Amino acid sequence: MTTQPYRFAILTQLGIRHGVTRREPSLPGHGAVSWNTGHEVALQNRRYWWKQLGLPLESTVFGRQVHGARVTVVLKQDGGRGALDPSTAVPETDALVTAEPGLPVVVQCADCVPILLFAPDVPAVAAVHAGWRGTTQLIVLRAVEVLVRGLGARPHELRAALGPSIGPCCYEVGDEVVEQWLTAVPTDGREAICRRANKYVFDLWKANRLLLLDVGVLPQHIELAGICTRCHASEWFSYRATGPRTGAQAAVIALPLDRAGKR
Ligand SMILES: [Zn+2]
Repeated sequence: MTTQPYRFAILTQLGIRHGVTRREPSLPGHGAVSWNTGHEVALQNRRYWWKQLGLPLESTVFGRQVHGARVTVVLKQDGGRGALDPSTAVPETDALVTAEPGLPVVVQCADCVPILLFAPDVPAVAAVHAGWRGTTQLIVLRAVEVLVRGLGARPHELRAALGPSIGPCCYEVGDEVVEQWLTAVPTDGREAICRRANKYVFDLWKANRLLLLDVGVLPQHIELAGICTRCHASEWFSYRATGPRTGAQAAVIALPLDRAGKR
């Protein structure tokens, strides 16, 4: 039996290879792709999932994520960084952008929102890791800026897919998070905050959607998985459900190989 990664309709329709790996109890370490699950286990799981994704692990680019807002554009020569050895990962970055055909980029999450972007007119792709820190630092806006200003993408052509992550059902946050969000967001961000039983709830899905809409992405080009990792912690890795030793799922995207078949 094989388990397929989660896939988004808007990317599948356009022929873009991508997916989000899952928590799968029949695999070692429940299918986690993060090194904290053990080097051999992580490698074995990466090989398993990448085979299902139909993408080459050996040329996939991983970054060392730090809950920051740095976006890194990666090139062919970055292929394979962090894929088999954590020490070679792109340092301190939470978003990877590439216009290189056939070069997969990835982010790892366990409650944070994985966001995959596709700019068909460049073409280019991006993988973005947006927890509360990344979201309040507007990382998805930074990634779109790199695509638009750096690579010439038009916002109304952009596709955005938000993967399984902690939902508004489960994400209580402190006042300081709310304050940071409302201060940073360039539009009215109150829609992403609600108050429940004396606590604030931060809706990371709405927050990132607001940022994408604000920059000109069309509503019909944004797909939200709408799956809460904490509510479904048997199927997804969840930091809040399981604690700091939890593994992580990976969200991966790659442009097709160019017509010459080069990678
Ligand atoms: Zn939930």
